Amino acid sequence: MSFAASISTIGLLLAAIAVFSAIEALIPLHARGEWSKRHLIPNLALTFLTFATNLVFNIPLLLGIAWLQSKGWGLFNAYAFPPFVAFLGAIMVLDLAWYATHVSMHKVPGMWRFHAVHHSDPFVDVTTTIRQHPGESVIRYVYLAVFAFAFGVSPAAFAVYRIWSALHGLFEHSNVKLPQWLDTAITVVFSSPNMHKVHHSRDQHFTDRNYTNIFSIWDRLGGTFTPSRYGRNITYGLDGRDAPSQQSALGLLIGPFRLDRHVAGSLRQHNPQNRSV
Ligand SMILES: [Zn+2]
Ligand SMILES: [Zn+2]
Repeated sequence: MSFAASISTIGLLLAAIAVFSAIEALIPLHARGEWSKRHLIPNLALTFLTFATNLVFNIPLLLGIAWLQSKGWGLFNAYAFPPFVAFLGAIMVLDLAWYATHVSMHKVPGMWRFHAVHHSDPFVDVTTTIRQHPGESVIRYVYLAVFAFAFGVSPAAFAVYRIWSALHGLFEHSNVKLPQWLDTAITVVFSSPNMHKVHHSRDQHFTDRNYTNIFSIWDRLGGTFTPSRYGRNITYGLDGRDAPSQQSALGLLIGPFRLDRHVAGSLRQHNPQNRSV
């Protein structure tokens, strides 16, 4: 993905955010409240920061992918798979990488510090999608690189996955109320809005479920799937993270480096020995 293509992708994502915002206004899952206004500026600030960091990280990753392809290294480069199989396989492998990254960020305290920035949003809507700390971006790119290099993912498949992944993320974070039968039907193959809402619960029993990004099969195989009907009445956010000083753009950026009782509290909340169920 060239620099110009990356800029075009950012334009596409901003347009998609506007479209999903309009749909949220038409068929909201929850009424807009105080937090839906207060989180707007911090969420957009972190979104633009993520766009900027991804522009930088894409360059070495794509150079590495192209170099491995020229050498014939990596599973899909080393063997003569039919092009469609190699392309679809690459998409699935990258989505598995996303799932593995996500589970790791919930299990490893040092990674959770960064991912907690995404989970601390007290109101989930389309602007929550790319509310991501730069530290989380680094973690995600390391996992993506390991999987992309090992499997010999093509530059085209990588570009398609990144755009599909971002658009699907906007869809599943949107504060939209689909008919429950439709939301459930989507989860046969994909993650749905209510399926991902389960993952944003304050109750860790639900937070440790539904990690997947695009394909629901990873949660089903990993034993972490919870039906989407549980996502209709979720209380979002993280206990101990609601103070205005922690919810500002600056507060979110320095949050992972704080050693105060609020961070300790949310780490305790994510200690497997303290699960409520
Ligand atoms: Zn998560
Ligand atoms: Zn999320």
